[in-house]
Amino acid sequence: MAQEIMQVSPLPAFMMNALQEASYIVHDHTHIKDPGALRKVTALVGTGAAMVDKKLLTMLPNVKLIAICGVGYDGVDVAAAKEKGIVVTHTPGVLTDDVADLALGLMLSIGRRIPQADRFVRNGDWVNDVFPMTRKVSGATLGIVGMGRIGQAIAKRAVAFDMRVLYTSREPKVGVPYTFYQTATALAAEVDYLVVAVPGGDRTKNLIGASVLQALGSQGYLINIARGSVVDQPALVTALKDKLIAGAALDVFWDEPLVDPELRRLNNVVLTPHIASATEETRRAMAALTMDNLRAFYEKRALPTPVPECQSA
Ligand code: NAP
Repeated sequence: MAQEIMQVSPLPAFMMNALQEASYIVHDHTHIKDPGALRKVTALVGTGAAMVDKKLLTMLPNVKLIAICGVGYDGVDVAAAKEKGIVVTHTPGVLTDDVADLALGLMLSIGRRIPQADRFVRNGDWVNDVFPMTRKVSGATLGIVGMGRIGQAIAKRAVAFDMRVLYTSREPKVGVPYTFYQTATALAAEVDYLVVAVPGGDRTKNLIGASVLQALGSQGYLINIARGSVVDQPALVTALKDKLIAGAALDVFWDEPLVDPELRRLNNVVLTPHIASATEETRRAMAALTMDNLRAFYEKRALPTPVPECQSA
């Protein structure tokens, strides 16, 4: 009998195709309301943008798996899921390189003002003017907030740029050769570039607030490839407008895909639409790992990549 699953966020076409080829019946959570149909759903599938709260889970008495196609799962109420005996899986590792690549790309973009220089050429400004000098990235000091898989991949790349790497995490990481700082504020005070690579959710909400930005200072740049919620966005807009920091490069925002018009008007920012893992190769690898988790679940095998909170489940 075909298994019935529900998508809880838009999925890429090749993921939908893979689900259909595997003969799953895929419902869309915005269309299915009938309690009888909801009872048939046994697994949920979504991206890192998926919002799965207690209310939704209460409507789905037979769901036992939430398979997230992404490493961040801050939209999922994992505690509520665990209470109902539901396991949550995600796709760690396969996207690490892409996200670290984009972090370096954003750092170079804001430090060397590459998008601004591109606009300068396109607008014809070069004919009458000289593009202002920018800031050096090689040899600068980089602070990483969150020394996990992505943080470590960013550090590895930064070392190739002869950068001095410092970090903060919940605790010092064994085997990591970079200097540890107890708080994001203490770290920010020491660095030219501060990159955020922690998970989103309540525990990191507004971790980068006014005091961290003040410590980063008028020569410092903020790069966020983690989650919009980690940065106090109004405080960041103020810091950028008042030149309390030199600039910011952001892949993630509050209220995506709506981006604060004030932020969009600023010239000391580089903004990308949450694309850190969005390469063909990586999105396919993420979809394949999500499919592996689904298959293992229905074949009653050990799940390849449960989230840490569900690893003993
Ligand atoms: P990870 O391996 O779990 O690393 C996260 C790191 O953050 C861990 O070292 C963790 O410390 C640390 N951390 C957690 N809470 C902290 C806090 N309050 N203060 C300081 N450090 C804290 O995860 P990852 O694979 O590197 O991914 C990190 C995040 O990147 C994801 O959760 C996701 O939200 C984001 N991401 C964004 C994109 C994008 O498209 N922009 C793509 C992929 C991932 P412990 O080791 O002590 O737990």
